Amino acid sequence: MANRKYIVGNWKMNGMQAQLSDIAHIAAIAAKHGGVDVGICPPITLITAAANANPDFAIGAQDCHFNEKGAHTGNVSAAMLKEAGATYTILGHSERRADHGESDADVKAKAEAVHAAGLGAIICVGETEEERDAGQAVAVVTGQLAGSFPDSANADWLTIAYEPVWAIGTGRVPEISDVEEMHGAIRAKLGELMGEGSDAVRIQYGGSMNGGNAAELLAVPNVDGGLVGGASLNAEKFGPIIEAAEAT
Ligand code: PEP
Repeated sequence: MANRKYIVGNWKMNGMQAQLSDIAHIAAIAAKHGGVDVGICPPITLITAAANANPDFAIGAQDCHFNEKGAHTGNVSAAMLKEAGATYTILGHSERRADHGESDADVKAKAEAVHAAGLGAIICVGETEEERDAGQAVAVVTGQLAGSFPDSANADWLTIAYEPVWAIGTGRVPEISDVEEMHGAIRAKLGELMGEGSDAVRIQYGGSMNGGNAAELLAVPNVDGGLVGGASLNAEKFGPIIEAAEAT
């Protein structure tokens, strides 16, 4: 049986108080599409206000530290995110892996911390263009998945996002056949890593998803949703993706 679609907007370092109204508009659209799970991950500064203003809508974070507290200037813990109003967080986004040198082991430790705090996690994996051109995409991505995979994995709290690095923010998307191959490979790897229950772990596609290509991407086998950057910043762009998810 197909999994319920799960569409999440990653606002990255975008959004001031003035953009809280965009979250309210998106939450209102999500409320009208009860067949799909929808959330927004704004910058940390907006989490509490967004969660308080939209109590039935899933507000998430974009990262956290793997320790509970301590001397980690500039970081926040999973428990802090939860107290702020987040119910889940993105982990291991390629921008974190590239800009902050996050390793698979770091991502795994963060996922364990997030689960211990009672939050959900979306773990991102994806190959660079050089890796794809070298024919290594599946090996790289399934390797990242194995290295980042938390011991306590369970579909109740864990989602995987396949995000080819070269497709993020570029307007380029992989061939549909490549998306199908990769999501199938991730599904098979989840089976190896988890055994029973692995089919229920949702696998999102991320990388230049928009209102024009969402329906085709979301219809691919084992594509259980989308992680969306640029096209999640307002209701005009994000709404059609939510509609496409409910229609597939
Ligand atoms: C992302 O950064 O997670 C992402 C998918 O971005 P975009 O949709 O803008 O490519």
